[in-house]
Amino acid sequence: MKIAIIGSGLIGQSWAMIFAGAGHTVTLYDIVSEQVSKALETIATNLKNYESQGCLRGQLTASRQVSLITGSSDMQECLNGASYVQECVPESVDLKRQVFNQMDMYITEDMIVASSSSCLGVSQFVGEMKNKHRTLVAHPVNPPYFVPLVEIVPGPWTLPEVSQQTRTLLESVGQAPVTLSKECPGFALNRIQYSIINECWCMYKDGLLSAADIDKLMVNGLGPRYAFIGPLETMHLNADGIVDYCKRYAQGAYNVSSTLTPPPIMYDIPTAENVQSELSSAVPLEQLLERRKWRDRHLAALASLKNQL
Ligand code: NAD
Repeated sequence: MKIAIIGSGLIGQSWAMIFAGAGHTVTLYDIVSEQVSKALETIATNLKNYESQGCLRGQLTASRQVSLITGSSDMQECLNGASYVQECVPESVDLKRQVFNQMDMYITEDMIVASSSSCLGVSQFVGEMKNKHRTLVAHPVNPPYFVPLVEIVPGPWTLPEVSQQTRTLLESVGQAPVTLSKECPGFALNRIQYSIINECWCMYKDGLLSAADIDKLMVNGLGPRYAFIGPLETMHLNADGIVDYCKRYAQGAYNVSSTLTPPPIMYDIPTAENVQSELSSAVPLEQLLERRKWRDRHLAALASLKNQL
């Protein structure tokens, strides 16, 4: 199958590697033509590194995967013959509208056009399109090569089979898609993530725990459990089923929850500066890049462990 990627930055490159890993041919397009060649070079280096580190996806060699990915500085050429398009241009509603309108004339009846948007629903930028029923959001999580979740978010005009086929395709290339029934602010992942951050923020501001201990709670407590079992199954396993859990613990959970600070919570700069000075003693700002590489190596190791289990 031919996959077209529109925008060859960080996320476009990740999608290209994911699809090539599953044996699809990929064409990358970018408005900046030098960016396409840069992206192809970065992809080749990454795939070779992943191969030598034992974390390359799929059955094909790195050089075979590299040969499946080509670049183009022409949108029409990129889209021609593609069954699935993944848009990866910066998060701006005007830019996405312009790019989707430009793609509209090349969209065929069997093509799906997905946006990588982190927080914009397609309804915000596809309204003028003839082919808006073939568009939806497929939101990856960074770094997508090692974190498989993708949120599929249909717009009000998206055909049900477009969501279903996207889910099937993403599962077939090794991602773990979830499907929302409609658009909502933050989709699902960020709604959960912000509720966690909100409570962390309040505990820090109240002086209940240090920043390091708040992060330790997740890394050594909830994190290991949630890498394998979600919060609902946790309830199910921590009693004789979730109904029993609710009978036993709902009142206690309600009592605690009624003491949580209600949203919205503004992440204020003075508090952020205090947290940053604490975090910087372990990870100084000039070491963020190195720490991101460390994070990616550990996520890669976790992904390969989960595959072996
Ligand atoms: P990026 O800035 O790394 O890459 C964007 C690319 O789009 C650039 O190469 C740019 O030249 C190109 N571009 C700009 N205008 C274009 C146009 N008109 N036509 C074609 N290409 C164009 O951005 P990114 O981090 O890869 O993010 C892309 C999308 O993915 C955004 O919607 C973002 O919200 C989403 N996303 C990002 C992350 C993340 O952590 N970076 C995670 C999930 C989703």
